[in-house]
Amino acid sequence: MKCALVGNQNSGKTTLFNLLTGSNQKIGNWAGVTIERKEGIIKGTDITLVDLPGIYSLSPYTSEEEVSRKFVKDEKPDLIINIIDATSIERSLYLTTQLLELDSKVIIALNMEDILEKKGVKIDIVKLSKLLNTTIVSISALKKTGIENLIDHIKENDVLPNEHNKIFESSIEQDIEKIIEHHKDHNLSRFDAVKIFERDRLYKVLIDDEIEKIIKSQEDKYQTEKIRDESITFEKREKNITDKIDKIVLNKWLALPIFALIMALVYFFSVGVIGGLTTSFIDALFNGSETIELMGNEVPFVIKGLGPLLGDLILESGGHTWAASLVQDGVINGVGAVVSFLPQLIILFFFLSILETSGYMARIAFFLDRIFKRFGLSGKSLIPFIIGAGCSVPAIMASRTVEDEKEKKMTIILTPFIPCASKLPIIALFASFFFSSYAWLVTFSLYVFAIAIIILSALVM
Ligand code: GDP
Ligand code: MG
Repeated sequence: MKCALVGNQNSGKTTLFNLLTGSNQKIGNWAGVTIERKEGIIKGTDITLVDLPGIYSLSPYTSEEEVSRKFVKDEKPDLIINIIDATSIERSLYLTTQLLELDSKVIIALNMEDILEKKGVKIDIVKLSKLLNTTIVSISALKKTGIENLIDHIKENDVLPNEHNKIFESSIEQDIEKIIEHHKDHNLSRFDAVKIFERDRLYKVLIDDEIEKIIKSQEDKYQTEKIRDESITFEKREKNITDKIDKIVLNKWLALPIFALIMALVYFFSVGVIGGLTTSFIDALFNGSETIELMGNEVPFVIKGLGPLLGDLILESGGHTWAASLVQDGVINGVGAVVSFLPQLIILFFFLSILETSGYMARIAFFLDRIFKRFGLSGKSLIPFIIGAGCSVPAIMASRTVEDEKEKKMTIILTPFIPCASKLPIIALFASFFFSSYAWLVTFSLYVFAIAIIILSALVM
């Protein structure tokens, strides 16, 4: 018997897969694509389990979706385990309804039951099971609860047969019949008919005037919201501190000014204050001085410096002038020029990593989504942009999830303009070198300038 594990990203597939298969795993690549293929035997059985890539639909827009769609449609596993993150069930239902269109049996593993209560979500499993007409098991892959129950259902093949024609309202079901009937000679499956209903790009040629009429008449009724509303209640929970902070930093008017202010502060402290206090001092340690610059003020500070010290030593011990110059002006001066910027870079990295791990960067990405849409870029291009703040290489790789070909190319071209973690220090370094006390302002302006360039280029393209 062959089972496939299908679900959204982060729904707990890998956790459940590892739990069910233990060490009986084989890892390879799907033919033709660089997506990991994981296969294993469920412990204590002879059932093969395949971990499919995380997906949100069976539409073949990304290579992950293509792999999963091909597998469940062509290889027809005996059972599909649809793993759902119970705390955000509405995101998963679309995929679930698609899986239910297939010929394989489907069992739903409602994961993360351990945190449901804390999130204030209540799910009426009996009702949901009735609405979807399929077997549902509540589990926690992390806390290992409900797993025995799930395995029993799988082993005994104790899963409701897939009775397709009960998922949607009867009028929609009739229209799906009509579509199949209308394209009799194409021998459409129910899955195909539903895809036509959804105006899936691949099925465009099959949408003629007649079909168009059928789809139009039902468009607003065809939704998974009904299922959600009838089976799930969201309790009002106390607003916690995160909600309160979010309310301010993601406020419609304040979010961008706050973001600008935070970035300006980051550069002011790291490049301005820390840089202003340390750069000249460290340079003096290496090259010697009479005065140093502290926050733009000349302060007396007499020191010979490591370079001149070593240079003189070489000369006194009879060394050639070029040897002394090589050590003093070349090695020490060169290394010193870079090291003098080290303190501000450390602080800069420190602040940037706080912004990232606190989740602030992700929130800003979400917020900027609406704005980016106006320049012909979707939320999906924003993920590469945010990753691009760390490094352009993985960012460009991340653009493979952007569906639209044109949008994907734009994203790839624009991503390198984002000041990344390796560009920022370089910018900060040159700014400190050329603009001394105004360095932080120059660095910050370049950040803003980069964003302006991206928007401008996006408009041009
Ligand atoms: P995948 O992307 O579907 O493979 O998801 P993973 O298995 O990598 O899980 C994503 C995250 O959810 C991980 O941090 C898991 O520890 C966590 N997770 C998985 N199952 C559960 C669960 O039952 N309860 C809780 N609280 N967390 C879980
Ligand atoms: Mg995984």
